[in-house]
Amino acid sequence: MNFAIFNKENEKSEKLKEQIKERLLLSRLNIDEENPDVVIVIGGDGTFLKAVHHYMNKLDKVSFIGLRSGSLGFYYDFVMDDIDAFILSLKENAFTTSKHHLLECDINGNIIYALNEVRFENPFHTFACEVFINEEKLEKYQGSGLLVCNELGSTAYNKSLGGAVISNDLPLLQLTEIATIQNNVYHSLGSSLVLPNDTVLSFKGDFNKTVIGYDHLTIDSNHAQTIRVYASKKTITLLKPLNSSYIKTLTRSFVK
Ligand code: NAP
Repeated sequence: MNFAIFNKENEKSEKLKEQIKERLLLSRLNIDEENPDVVIVIGGDGTFLKAVHHYMNKLDKVSFIGLRSGSLGFYYDFVMDDIDAFILSLKENAFTTSKHHLLECDINGNIIYALNEVRFENPFHTFACEVFINEEKLEKYQGSGLLVCNELGSTAYNKSLGGAVISNDLPLLQLTEIATIQNNVYHSLGSSLVLPNDTVLSFKGDFNKTVIGYDHLTIDSNHAQTIRVYASKKTITLLKPLNSSYIKTLTRSFVK
C-alpha cells in the first residue's frame, strides 16, 4: 500500500509530516505522493478540503485519513498525540471505511465537485432565483443566497446558517437559505429543506454578479441562466479507526 501526506502549511503540521514520514519508512510503508492508495491529511478541515480537491481525479483509487494538528477537524479522528495508534492502524489496516457522494454542480456545462457544499451568494445586491426540485417549482427565492450541502458538509457553513446537522451515515442533500428576505411581498420556505440523494436541484436566474462558492473555491457563473446541483457518481472514501464515533466527534467539535 502506498501513502501520501498532504499537510497544512504551518510549522506544527510540517513537523508532524516529517515525524509521520520517518515512522512510515521505519515501518516499511511506502510513500508515493503521485499515486497513493491512502492520503494522510495533516491539519484541519480546510486542509482536508484542499487534499480532496488535489486528488480529485484519483478519487476512485484513493482513500483519505486525517491526523488533526489543531483546528476544529470534523474530518479527523486521530490527533497529534495518537501517533503510535495512528501508525499501528496503518500497519494493520485496522479501519472502517465510509463512502460519500460528492456534490456535482453543472454551470453551463462546466462541472464542479464539492465535498462540503455549493453556494450562491451576492454580497452587493439582492440575490433572486427560482428554485426547482426535480423540475417542479418550489419558490422564487430573494435574499443573500442559497447553499446546497450533503451529509458531510452539514456541520460546516450550513450549520452556521441554522441548517440541520446530518448524521454522516445518511446520504442526502440539504438546501439552506442565507439571510432570506421574508415579508408580505417576498416569501420562500424559510427553513432548510432536506431531500433524498437522487434529487436534482435547479436554480434559474441571473448569476452574473453572484459568487459561486464550492468548498474553499469559487468559480465564474459563465453567463449561466440555470445551475443544477445533485449528488455526483464520484465518491470519496474515508478511513476511520474501528472505535470511531460520530457522536463523540460532534461533542468534541461543538458541545464542549
Ligand atoms: P476554512 O478556514 O478552511 O474553514 C472555515 C471553518 O469551517 C474552519 O473552522 C473549518 O475547520 C470549518 N469546516 C470546514 N469544513 C467543515 C465541516 N465539514 N464540518 C465542520 N467544520 C468545517 O475556510 P474557507 O477556505 O473559506 O472555506 C472552506 C469552508 O469554510 C467551506 O466549505 C464552508 O463550509 C466554510 N465556511 C463557513 C462559513 C461560516 O460558517 N460562516 C463561511 C464561509 C465558509 P478547521 O478549523 O478544522 O479548518
